[in-house]
Amino acid sequence: MNAVSKVFPLGQKTREFLSSPRQLLIDGRWVAAASGKIFPVYDPARGEVIAQVAEADAEDVDRAVGAARRAFETGPWSTMSPSERGRLVWRLADLLERDAEAFAELECIDNGKPYSLAKAADVPLAIDMFRYMAGWATKIRGTTIDLPGSYLSYTLKEPVGVVAQIIPWNFPLLMAAWKLAPALATGCTIVLKPAEQTPLSALRLGELVLEAGFPPGVVNIIPGYGERAGAALAAHPDVDKIAFTGSGEVGKLIVCAAAGNLKKVTLELGGKSPVVVFPDADMKATIPGVSFGIFFNQGETCCAGSRLYAHEKVFDQLVEGIAAEAKKIKVGPGMDPSSQMGPLVSEEHFARVTGYIRSGLAQGAQAAAGGDTTRKGAGYFVEPTVLTNVKPGMNVVREEIFGPVLVASRFCDDDLIAIAREANDSVYGLAASVWTRDISVANKMAKRLKAGSVWINCHNVIDAALPFGGYKQSGWGREMGEFALDNYLEVKAVTTAL
Ligand code: NAP
Ligand code: MG
Repeated sequence: MNAVSKVFPLGQKTREFLSSPRQLLIDGRWVAAASGKIFPVYDPARGEVIAQVAEADAEDVDRAVGAARRAFETGPWSTMSPSERGRLVWRLADLLERDAEAFAELECIDNGKPYSLAKAADVPLAIDMFRYMAGWATKIRGTTIDLPGSYLSYTLKEPVGVVAQIIPWNFPLLMAAWKLAPALATGCTIVLKPAEQTPLSALRLGELVLEAGFPPGVVNIIPGYGERAGAALAAHPDVDKIAFTGSGEVGKLIVCAAAGNLKKVTLELGGKSPVVVFPDADMKATIPGVSFGIFFNQGETCCAGSRLYAHEKVFDQLVEGIAAEAKKIKVGPGMDPSSQMGPLVSEEHFARVTGYIRSGLAQGAQAAAGGDTTRKGAGYFVEPTVLTNVKPGMNVVREEIFGPVLVASRFCDDDLIAIAREANDSVYGLAASVWTRDISVANKMAKRLKAGSVWINCHNVIDAALPFGGYKQSGWGREMGEFALDNYLEVKAVTTAL
């Protein structure tokens, strides 16, 4: 593990961006927080402060919601044609593409993930999301409905209004894109609160929002702490809809806070996604595929394949193979070109993930790879870990760890119903994968698994066109694809007596 506090050079755009405190984007202008407060942003590879950011609280939330309301009701946005809206969203994608390197750097030093990963995944996926949704702006339409008697009825699809969006730290830019793109395509106005750990790429995106020419107040970006800025947004009486991605615990607080004015709510919450491997699976593809499913993005992925269920005939070979892959992963600072896995996002999260590993080991689990929880150097690095000898009731099997930790169990049954029951034994239902050469088994399992995404012989495959979201306590609603538009649209039935 390379945990040396070596400093890697950053590009000029990134250095300039970090050189002065970043402010809040409210009503098309960069402003200080009303309280004047700022908070530090850390590089998780070194545990050092890299930027200062204005800290929004209730008063700033009020200002931002006011700006979004004016922009929605009376600003140029309210009368802009769908085609013009779509062009602005497309222009934002172009600007993001122009600055792709700078965004990948910010994502790397703020979240910890390897620069190479941010450059290959986060940034292009965000660009693609804006482009995909730009195309939808001109395709939102109602229908005509035949009624008995002499009436003409049709539906109108209208933007829901002022939308609050609260996002987590694991894919800061991509989560901002998932939220902003459909809301903009449908004509809503937005107040976005990034996670306090990772506000930088959203703020940089705010600069591009202004450069692209969005009217003032359409996009407001207000970093701050969840308990203050986030809670004030969730409770605000003039917010029409809240879209949240994060933990189930905070998701429940959002639901309660939203009850005051019954704002619409969509939630993307956690997961403990099962990975089911049948004895006929192609081991050459399954071993790296399952490893990618859990270790991608330091395991800080809501749909990570974190619970492995493998048939006893292949269990040992599979676990040995995944453990060998885990040991090969080079963990180190994200800006080091040789790093394949970066540090976890924060000291707090490092303590949480290593706490889970220790509790698993204390309850009798064995580490086939990793398992060392000592802190190496100043960064929050954790070894990719594979735990075997786990029992269904253990915390490491039941709870979302949100780190590079796989728990592996075996099944000996050939009864698909029993296998699916075990795979579904979780409060979550975000994703699942099935590994087999038998298309009939694969598709029967896909039908039985209670998850919003089921992957067959792959894991973590996402696309702007594919709906994503959870069954059970993994959330309400779907993001991406055509489905995401409904989150931001009201349907109005108009009937005329003829
Ligand atoms: P988190 O603590 O729930 O935070 C998520 C966001 O909510 C942050 O912006 C946070 O602000 C804010 N927040 C915290 N308390 C709040 C409150 N009382 N009212 C309003 N907002 C509040 O989650 P996290 O630790 O950042 O992220 C990890 C979790 O997100 C995992 O459980 C993961 O599975 C889930 N996740 C799900 C998806 C998905 O698509 N389903 C995607 C990514 C992550 P601060 O950070 O500033 O406190
Ligand atoms: Mg940070």
